[in-house]
Amino acid sequence: MSVIRSIAAISVALTAFTGVAQAKELVVYSSRQEHLITPVFDLYTQKTGVKINYITDSEGPLMARLKAEGRNTPADIFMTVDAGNLWQAQQQDLFRKTDSEVIRNNIPAQYRAEGGEWTGLSLRARTIAYSTERVDPATLSTYEALADDSWKGRVCLRTSRKVYNQSLTATMIETLGAEQTGEVIKGWLANLAAPIFPDDTALIQAIDAGQCDVGIVNTYYFGRLAQTNPDIKVKLFWPNQEDRGVHVNISGAGVTKYAKNPTEATKFLEWLTTEEAQRIFADVNQEFPANASLQPSEEVQAWGDFKADTINVEVAGRRQPEAIMLMDRMGWN
Ligand code: FE
Repeated sequence: MSVIRSIAAISVALTAFTGVAQAKELVVYSSRQEHLITPVFDLYTQKTGVKINYITDSEGPLMARLKAEGRNTPADIFMTVDAGNLWQAQQQDLFRKTDSEVIRNNIPAQYRAEGGEWTGLSLRARTIAYSTERVDPATLSTYEALADDSWKGRVCLRTSRKVYNQSLTATMIETLGAEQTGEVIKGWLANLAAPIFPDDTALIQAIDAGQCDVGIVNTYYFGRLAQTNPDIKVKLFWPNQEDRGVHVNISGAGVTKYAKNPTEATKFLEWLTTEEAQRIFADVNQEFPANASLQPSEEVQAWGDFKADTINVEVAGRRQPEAIMLMDRMGWN
């Protein structure tokens, strides 16, 4: 990371030196992994000559760093996953407002901040994964139904400390109310087959191995495992098709408050929402394009069509504190 850091430092020095000249470099702070972002970064450089320098780290340290660096930050763009994280960054005043017709046209309103602080770039569903050996999918219906007695000793969950579960809970509070959401969580916990898992991958593997029958996971983790193990005895189920639909979240980005090259950064962000960039950005992680004019990859389409919850993902941020408190109160570690 220190090498990249020094490149970033040089880039800032050069930009300062050339004054108002068009930026030839941009700096991105990304909590998305390197192999998921470099394919689009490289294509942008090829097309425009603008070099993209980046550092990758977890969202917490990156946000702390942006805050500590303040107006001295070299970062033009902050990129991360989950509306809950993007909301956090927005609350910490780390973004500037971007008023872009291109982004408004390319990305549905429910996947963007209302004030233009950030936009979704890809979509992932947080859905039910089930054992094809021990579960008849006809017995599955909703997230809530996994709290029923018939699932006693069969459910697996990831930790509530992960923002993905906080966002799912936050949107359930918005739709069902805190009381009913709390009852559902209590039921899930009463039905656990195993201790809480640290990540979605381990959870899906536990279903495959026979430790649990069902769990709630992000779609791309299943996609990755199914790619390396086509015989995996796990499938995805789309719950709540008769009511609100499947919980969908985003990966996304925004121009930083103290971007040195806000105009160029906005152009880059706009380009990331175009079909050309979306194709790569979504497919590389088996996600759904956030630009609704594109179809998902063939692999992702093979999971089948589903009705997605149309709730504005900002809710995941706005109700995050309530969600964390509720999960804690119900004993979800
Ligand atoms: Fe993830």
